[in-house]
Amino acid sequence: MKEKRNVVGLVRVSTDDQARDDRGGLPRQMEVIEKTIAAQNLNCVEIVTLKGVSGTEVRGNREIQRILKMIEARTIDGVVVADLDRLMRPAAGQDYALLDPFIDAKAVIFANGQEFDFRSPAANLMVKLFLGFAEFERTLIVNRSRGAVRQLCLSGRHPFGMRQLPRGVVYDRASNTWSTDDRIIPVVEAFRLMDTGTTNIAEIARRVGVHERAMHNLLRNPLYSGWRVYATGREPKKVVSRYGRAYKRKVPLPPEEVIRVQVLNPPPVSQERFDRVQMILANSNKAWKAERDDRPAYNLLRSVARCGRCDCRLYFSQDRRRPNIMGYYFCSQHYYKKGKKGTCGAANQSKAELDGATLGFITDVLTKPQVLRAILAHSKAVAEANRAQPELKETDPATFEVRKKRLKDGFEAGVISMLDLKERLAKIQLEEEAIRRVAQNQAKSLAAPDLEELIRMVVEGAHLFENLKDPSWKLRVIKRLFAGIYYENGQITKFKLQPSLIHDSVCEMNLRRDLDSWRRQA
Ligand SMILES: [Zn+2]
Repeated sequence: MKEKRNVVGLVRVSTDDQARDDRGGLPRQMEVIEKTIAAQNLNCVEIVTLKGVSGTEVRGNREIQRILKMIEARTIDGVVVADLDRLMRPAAGQDYALLDPFIDAKAVIFANGQEFDFRSPAANLMVKLFLGFAEFERTLIVNRSRGAVRQLCLSGRHPFGMRQLPRGVVYDRASNTWSTDDRIIPVVEAFRLMDTGTTNIAEIARRVGVHERAMHNLLRNPLYSGWRVYATGREPKKVVSRYGRAYKRKVPLPPEEVIRVQVLNPPPVSQERFDRVQMILANSNKAWKAERDDRPAYNLLRSVARCGRCDCRLYFSQDRRRPNIMGYYFCSQHYYKKGKKGTCGAANQSKAELDGATLGFITDVLTKPQVLRAILAHSKAVAEANRAQPELKETDPATFEVRKKRLKDGFEAGVISMLDLKERLAKIQLEEEAIRRVAQNQAKSLAAPDLEELIRMVVEGAHLFENLKDPSWKLRVIKRLFAGIYYENGQITKFKLQPSLIHDSVCEMNLRRDLDSWRRQA
């Protein structure tokens, strides 16, 4: 009789929920594994149980690494799992590397009673195929269950965890009922306070004993007026955060997809009171913004101002204890940085002077069409001169002809094969086409902006600029027109227009759109 093969049984559940569920649950997986061991007459050395490990995390798991080591060392002959997807869920191509030890050691995987023997090359293919299908099926299920979740939300159920509910609201899953508990009392009191004249959120938070930062959100949650509202969704693609975590960005749902269900009736806070509080919050936010923008210390030249002496950025500084004093701009290279003395000796420049010079420049110079025409013509000439130089050599069609002839000569002399010749000629052909395309695009973009129309729009923008009250809108106009303005001793020494103004065909359209919004603001 053949010697019994040694195997390790692997059981995996990704979340605690699954432990309760029948299909992917622990008992069912154990049952399948036991049956397989009996039917195949295997010697089970050990059963490894992974809890709370998702399919994509398997590869990095320590227990799995240990099993792979055992396979490499040939202390076991294979692994028994209930389904292949218990072993892994390929999220990326490199995840299949998990199979390499099996291939190298010619091991066996038993999945759902089936035997994948890596002594035959077909096993590798089969396993990958099955895993691919499992993954495909999973995406289908996810898409389907997303629709199911939506249906549940629409019918007033709460298919999420209790942590998703705000303070004081309770949901009972078994009976599908919404209710409130004692923790809601301070929230209701906060709504009452705000509705009866206490508008300072910090003060309200102190009085009811809830943290101020939580208070901002609580007072805006429509659930307290009885309505559950789902107004945000997630972007389909994952992005990676600055700290390396992958997540899906929250985005507002399109209006037709927003779900509004009344779940608490009677509501803890009346609809009228809730609406009044929303109004108060919106107004105080507006007032705060207005106050911020009215401060004389608004940095009007943010990211545009540059040092006339060394071309580096100018930073803005003000005395925080005296916010009504204007403050000043200073060169980013002026002061000590990392223990080294700054390289630029430019003096600080007063904010009043620089802002004045900028406003004067825009209202005096940019409102004159003749001056503007001269400026734009000059900028365009400079841009064209900069661009023309590197292309001369490449666009010369003669070079391509020379290269082609050289290849043909080589072929005739028997240096290169027919295949080589064809390949290399095709390559040259591609290069030629690419360069022709670039040249065409350039011709288009140079011709595109109608100069007179552009000048008319810039002049209008400059006139509107005078009437803009909100400094943040002034900043927008400045940024739209200039890539940089250079200052020395309180005077503008030079400026760079936004490159898009000079040779971008979309610029005209954008500027037109901007003008509309500037007109509304002025
Ligand atoms: Zn400087």
